[in-house]
Amino acid sequence: MTTALRPQPGIMDIALYQGGASKIEGQDNPLKLSSNENPFGCSPLASAAVSAAALQLHRYPSTDHTPLRAAIADVHGLPLERIICGVGSDELLTLLAMAYAGPGDEVLYPEHGFSMYRIFALSAGATPVTAPEANRCVDVDALIARITDRTRLIYIANPANPTGTALAADELARLAGAVPESCLLVLDGAYAEFADGYDGGAALVDQHPNVVMTRTFSKLYGLGGLRVGWAYAAQGVVDVLNRVRGPFNLSGVALAGAEAAMRDRAFVDRCLTENAEQRARLTGGLRQLGIGCDNSEANFVLARFPDEAEALAADAHLKSCGILVRLVKGYGFPQALRITVGSADDVTRVLEALAGFRGAA
Ligand SMILES: *Cc1c(COP(=O)(O)O)cnc(C)c1O
Repeated sequence: MTTALRPQPGIMDIALYQGGASKIEGQDNPLKLSSNENPFGCSPLASAAVSAAALQLHRYPSTDHTPLRAAIADVHGLPLERIICGVGSDELLTLLAMAYAGPGDEVLYPEHGFSMYRIFALSAGATPVTAPEANRCVDVDALIARITDRTRLIYIANPANPTGTALAADELARLAGAVPESCLLVLDGAYAEFADGYDGGAALVDQHPNVVMTRTFSKLYGLGGLRVGWAYAAQGVVDVLNRVRGPFNLSGVALAGAEAAMRDRAFVDRCLTENAEQRARLTGGLRQLGIGCDNSEANFVLARFPDEAEALAADAHLKSCGILVRLVKGYGFPQALRITVGSADDVTRVLEALAGFRGAA
């Protein structure tokens, strides 16, 4: 290979992102609980809107995404001008790093934070810095202690992935108040809807010009395959992101599907009710089997085993029962498995399989 061609510093330090597994050798139709997808799929109105939009594939899509932003603004009670849409929230999270951090700057996040945060930091040429957590919860004081005059951006997911734990409103407000004005605090709200009564940080965005909230259609809305996310931020931040995003970043199909999904509140409400019920069943059932787990405020739980060997054995047993969950060694939890909350039948299958594993052990 020629040495004349060299990528920007940091890029070769990026390890490829490992998504949740989707196949089991020799099993035709595995139960996939490895990527926090919606067990009920997406709103039928979203599917219909996607089909209708597929008849217009020769047309370039809207560049300003106004109908989708209007739907988001209506539902969330936010000003349309300060909402921006991206190709999944991943695009907005990475553009924030590229626009606000560079070589010599630091990007800070909790030690068990979403594995993409490191990739976003390195892609921008910045230095990733982690802060310890306390009992699998984001530790506000530890984050504040690691802020330096080079910190340009802080990412936290609330609720967090893969722990499912969330910061209380007063802790989040304390963090927002402690971040210097020269540093962005990005509240990744991929699972915000699942936390009862939480606004995803929208009120903090209104109070602090350096706080950004990101949201996604990939989890609750069941549209991970469509790739749509959005952010709410101060006008200045939205203006910056609009300069660096592609003008046609979202396809017409994606825009139409997401808009219909946002407006179908009945579907969303049914999914939230079902998730809360099945999450409680899964949590209680795991504990009854002697498998530790924290109270989750998301659509998954982190099941803890005594050690890595037992977690791997449990994973192998689940696979033999046709069930795929997520190994989270890469997040600093070699002894744990992250299990997406499925339908009532899915949860029954998981608990029966783990009871069988316990019985065999
Ligand atoms: C799934 C997830 C995202 C969202 O990804 P999209 O790009 O919107 O599909 C963001 N942050 C966390 C913590 C996630 O788990």
